[in-house]
Amino acid sequence: MDIQFLGTGAGQPSKARNVSSLALKLLDEINEVWLFDCGEGTQNRILETTIRPRKISKIFITHLHGDHIFGLPGFLSSRAFQANEEQTDLEIYGPQGIKSFVLTSLRVSGSRLPYKIHFHEFDQDSLGKVLETDKFAVYAEELDHTIFCVGYRVIQKDLEGTLDAEKLKAAGVPFGPLFGKIKNGQDVVLEDGTEIKAVDYISAPRPGKIITILGDTRKTDASVRLAVNADVLVHESTYGKGDEKIARNHGHSTNMQAAQVATEAGAKRLLLNHISARFLSKDISQLKKDAASIFENVHVVKDLEEVEI
Ligand SMILES: [Zn+2]
Repeated sequence: MDIQFLGTGAGQPSKARNVSSLALKLLDEINEVWLFDCGEGTQNRILETTIRPRKISKIFITHLHGDHIFGLPGFLSSRAFQANEEQTDLEIYGPQGIKSFVLTSLRVSGSRLPYKIHFHEFDQDSLGKVLETDKFAVYAEELDHTIFCVGYRVIQKDLEGTLDAEKLKAAGVPFGPLFGKIKNGQDVVLEDGTEIKAVDYISAPRPGKIITILGDTRKTDASVRLAVNADVLVHESTYGKGDEKIARNHGHSTNMQAAQVATEAGAKRLLLNHISARFLSKDISQLKKDAASIFENVHVVKDLEEVEI
């Protein structure tokens, strides 16, 4: 499982940073990629990665500001031009209005897609669990921005323990139906009377990962709730230390506030994105240094950077 950052800038693109988008690559887990936000030019960034657009099966939108959604019509149209590849449906999750934005842009531009888009829109009253599959659940909660904006908590369900086949063979269990029974947690008795307790041959279930990806927001308790015990928290850092007041006025956070959220939530790792073009590279090191005084495991991400979870 990896996160690849496609755009890490705030508001408008700069030479170094494109506007918001990131890909949660779940290729080993479910052979899918999930996109979070899709600012203008996201499809160009994808061309610089190994991500195949057809593998993108779900898009989660945090809010309807242009720097988070203007890349959708272009991406959706290009995704249709995958010659010789099977066309797969796409799910889009996001605030009410996202469906009308997408359908209007496609209709006005005369774009016809050879695959279906299923929309899952929500508002203040219909948040909570927005998706559940056999392997993952995704929750959304409202943040505190200048328009309705959400953060997402992606929970990977615990991974089943695996059967230790070598140990079973060594214990004299003949390969065959007994293996299946033991794998299902059933104790068995061999012909010679040996008792085999399933629990001794199955490793303990491994806890799944928790990934929290927030949209633009002031510091708010909802961010903490979404990030409780997260393996990774992706948090905006539009402003730096000392700019708390201006951050509040514009509906954003500073690096210090992001670090406080990570600390309060007991997150393991903090990745800062949505970085203003005002920050030069020396400012970026300072952003990290200042945040690290509150939460040590922090990193300011770059476009196209890939982080293993
Ligand atoms: Zn915004």
